[in-house]
Amino acid sequence: MSKKSSDNTIAFESRYCAHNYAPLPVVLVKGQGVHVWDEHGKRYLDMMSAYSAVSHGHCHPRLVARLHQQAQQLGVVSRAYYTDGLGPFLQKTCKLTRMARALPMNTGAEAVETALKAARKWAYTQKGIAHEQAEVIVCQGNFHGRTIAIVGMSSDTQYRDGFGPFPGGTVTIPFGDADALRQAITPNTAAFLVEPIQGEGGIIVPPPGYLKQCEAICREHNVLLLCDEVQCGLARTGAFLASDHDGVKPDGLILGKALGGGVLPVSMFLAREDVMDVFQPGDHGSTFGGYPLAAAVGHEALLIMEEDDYVTRASELGAYFKRELESIASAAIKEVRGKGLLLGIEMQPDAPSAHDVVVSLMHAGVLSKDTHETVIRLAPPLIIEQEMIDHAISIIRRVFQHL
Ligand SMILES: *Cc1c(COP(=O)(O)O)cnc(C)c1O
Repeated sequence: MSKKSSDNTIAFESRYCAHNYAPLPVVLVKGQGVHVWDEHGKRYLDMMSAYSAVSHGHCHPRLVARLHQQAQQLGVVSRAYYTDGLGPFLQKTCKLTRMARALPMNTGAEAVETALKAARKWAYTQKGIAHEQAEVIVCQGNFHGRTIAIVGMSSDTQYRDGFGPFPGGTVTIPFGDADALRQAITPNTAAFLVEPIQGEGGIIVPPPGYLKQCEAICREHNVLLLCDEVQCGLARTGAFLASDHDGVKPDGLILGKALGGGVLPVSMFLAREDVMDVFQPGDHGSTFGGYPLAAAVGHEALLIMEEDDYVTRASELGAYFKRELESIASAAIKEVRGKGLLLGIEMQPDAPSAHDVVVSLMHAGVLSKDTHETVIRLAPPLIIEQEMIDHAISIIRRVFQHL
């Protein structure tokens, strides 16, 4: 196929699709493992993994088989009925995360909304906060999704501008500063919502022990610690949960992205019993949340993560990848940071933009994406092999040499 045909495909999509993204100029038609292919048959190494949703790699054969099998059995019935796969899927997720109960949703944003609703209702019915007074503390630079309530908690003006009014009841503090949390807590504080490692905010790893201190402060004040691990959870950072790095047990946990095995949207809010038990029939729901296809694929995705030891893969290969990135001596690089296979290269302010680097990497056969203008995100599928990392490093090194 010609260059012209991809221009046509791009123009066609742009004609009908809302312009709420600015995609890189490549049309992807096929994926397998750590690779994707464009319309011209050119192969790319995927270092983005759909914002960490494709930890299992593209079209994992076991997930495709499980999806196919379940699709022929029972797809969608809603939770007006019991289904045989949901209990085992939720039990598996609860066991792996040491949580008591789970509420299945589809997208990350929905699961975050679920956490907020649980925290508020818990605050009124269990903690005894006065009607409509509950507050949730969030961090600067957070990313929890795109609903009105969630962008209302964002500190990014573009996420918010033009979308108000917002529900309110949130307080924003700096990320990585446990004293700020202590000072922000009032008798009306229901919960502290935090990403153990900020993903969209620029792959920001807080100081060691930060989350542990936050946990202690929350316990002391009977405030729920809600960890949003939609991006950093499920082995991505070299621990099953990023909160495991600090030995922290959240009161509520939000999972998404990789939970669907790169095949379906599957998300979940998990919590201790007294938090989840605030929900009565009719309080909350989702037509598709926990549907048989999602339960089948999500369960299989967790089994694969466990059997193929994604935690060790992410930990060892991530450490290797980070060392190799650090060895790229370029004046344009300010910092290489991250944990496991959630890595970012921050560019110097006077260097070419992260976007320019991402476009050069794309032409050289490596797909990534900039976040917050200055950071290049590198988060390959967790099935990546060391030789593919070496291949990526040689390309990244070459692109930086030619900047
Ligand atoms: C991606 C993301 C979300 C939102 O997930 P969607 O499926 O896009 O709604 C929430 N929290 C974090 C930390 C994320 O990275």
